[in-house]
Amino acid sequence: MSVLEVKNLKKSFDKLEVLKDIDFSLNKGETIAIIGSSGSGKTTLLRCLNFLEKPDGGKILINGDVIFDADDPNTQKEREIREKRLHFGLVFQSFNLFPQYTVLKNVTLASELIAKRKKGYRSNKKQILKQIDSQARESLGQMGLSDKLNYYPHQLSGGQQQRVAIARALAMSPDVLCFDEPTSALDPELTGEVLRVIRALAEKRTTMVIVTHEMAFARDVADRVIFMDCGVIVEQGSPREVLENPREERTKQFLARFSEE
Ligand code: ADP
Ligand code: MG
Repeated sequence: MSVLEVKNLKKSFDKLEVLKDIDFSLNKGETIAIIGSSGSGKTTLLRCLNFLEKPDGGKILINGDVIFDADDPNTQKEREIREKRLHFGLVFQSFNLFPQYTVLKNVTLASELIAKRKKGYRSNKKQILKQIDSQARESLGQMGLSDKLNYYPHQLSGGQQQRVAIARALAMSPDVLCFDEPTSALDPELTGEVLRVIRALAEKRTTMVIVTHEMAFARDVADRVIFMDCGVIVEQGSPREVLENPREERTKQFLARFSEE
């Protein structure tokens, strides 16, 4: 079954239609790479999935359940949005770590806040916090940061900070891990270390959507590639289909322009 289904998703800012009928689905363990020119709506799509923007039309389903339907206000209740957001982990271009907290605290913070709101927190506090702590340590270990738990963000390289941000998203065990150009704020020599950890996640069959300009990465790591242009999905298929044998003229032009840069 699909973990994520996006159906006819639409989003406009004033008169600008940024997403027009976006349709795709993602199976468990699958990695999708989204490519496309700047301004084509990629970030807006991820923001809609994470309820940072409210779509004007369409549906979002997780594991077959409708979690958002633009035509059904019952799916849009403010107090449920926070919970629904937890289906998705989002890693931005900029790492957005809290400078005043250690690496470990940056990763445990959100889980702790969520746990505190739940019933039974007080009576099980010690055990719950211990579990959050061990989950955070495990995610940081996966990102190769076990020796940096007590560091502060300013004591880390950009690549390390981004790996903390990935660990933070992973620690929440989201259904879908979303990346928005995770390496574009990094120096080229740090890009490789972040792409390597994302590749390792793909090899472990983590379910992911990755917006990227790294074409070689998309070709080697993604199970499927989506090419977006002006708010529509122009083409989607295997990396070989989309990147090596595109059917659509617009895809061909984008790839040709891209390889010239
Ligand atoms: P991409 O990530 O593919 O570069 P974006 O999703 O960031 O594209 O932006 C798509 C279009 O939507 C752009 O024209 C951008 O200016 C516009 N846009 C994005 N966010 C907003 C906003 N909050 N208000 C108005 N326009 C926006
Ligand atoms: Mg963007």
